[in-house]
Amino acid sequence: MKAITINKHGDLSEVGLVSLPVPTIGTAEVLVEIKSSALNRLDLWVVEGWRGLQLDFPHILGCDGAGTIVQTGEQVTKFAVGDHVAINPTRSCGRCSYCLSGRDHMCDHFAIFGEHIPGFYAEFQAIPERNLLIIPDGLSFDIAAAASLVYVTAWHSLIVAGGLKPGEDILVVGSAGGVNSACIDIARLAGAGRIYVVGSNEKKLAMAKQLGADVTINRQQEDWGTAVFKSTKRRGVDIVIDNIGAETFQKSIRALKKGGRLLTVGNTSGPLVQIDNRYIFGRHLSIIGATMGPISEYNEVMKLVFAGRLTPVIDSIYPMRDGLEALQRLAAGDVTGKLVLRMQPELDQALS
Ligand code: ZN
Repeated sequence: MKAITINKHGDLSEVGLVSLPVPTIGTAEVLVEIKSSALNRLDLWVVEGWRGLQLDFPHILGCDGAGTIVQTGEQVTKFAVGDHVAINPTRSCGRCSYCLSGRDHMCDHFAIFGEHIPGFYAEFQAIPERNLLIIPDGLSFDIAAAASLVYVTAWHSLIVAGGLKPGEDILVVGSAGGVNSACIDIARLAGAGRIYVVGSNEKKLAMAKQLGADVTINRQQEDWGTAVFKSTKRRGVDIVIDNIGAETFQKSIRALKKGGRLLTVGNTSGPLVQIDNRYIFGRHLSIIGATMGPISEYNEVMKLVFAGRLTPVIDSIYPMRDGLEALQRLAAGDVTGKLVLRMQPELDQALS
């Protein structure tokens, strides 16, 4: 089968389209013919690598996937050959204390497809049965793949860890990343009050508006901390979602009203942040860290996607052979919405 892999860490020149054996499945696994996969910024970090990340090379990239079951293991009971499935991007053991208490996203043996274990930029992948969800007729593989990682992350952070309640104001720091767009979409559905979005360019902010943002602030043109303060009538917001980290953390804290929550879901600008602790205790603030989410929440949020109540924004669709070009575009940052790869040659042809 064809797969997009790296043989060692480095820059994007390490990414190549290669031939690999089709994976063999375990008794509780299925073999999925991957139809669509979606890019995530995580792909770029995996290519670069970091201390502690130990991969078996060649490593197949890609955290998001959806496709058709072509083979089932003997113990598989809920799925059959021919089923169209979305794939939960996190693998957990099902046996540790975290898994047994429903917190499988904290599993002692936690892994993300494409990050720690082989991913979905491949024509086939072996997947545990517990990771699958049937895609209803009429919903595209592209949508299922594009939604998976970012919607479970946004849902868990905003709704479960962050406890967003109807009427609460939220501020999303960063406008066009997949998790940020999913947060706007989910906040709108959950009945948030005013949705503020801070972004770096007008095109991305226009997309945030389309998704349901009430107030957009261009951080290249104005001091966004002051702008948020002014437009909330000097009160601040209930929840800030910040996945930028070092560059924005202190301002994000200052944008919160008393009793507010800062949800930190990543650090695209660097991991070391400075905090003026007086704000934390003096204003009764909470800082809540989250990443990914448990199976139960993946299933919950994907059902809303399947019902059309939540919809990921897709920027472009590429054939698998142009996977490197898609990754280069993601790295360049000029993307509004998800980039999707189609893995099957017949679908490739449909694109050209
Ligand atoms: Zn576990």
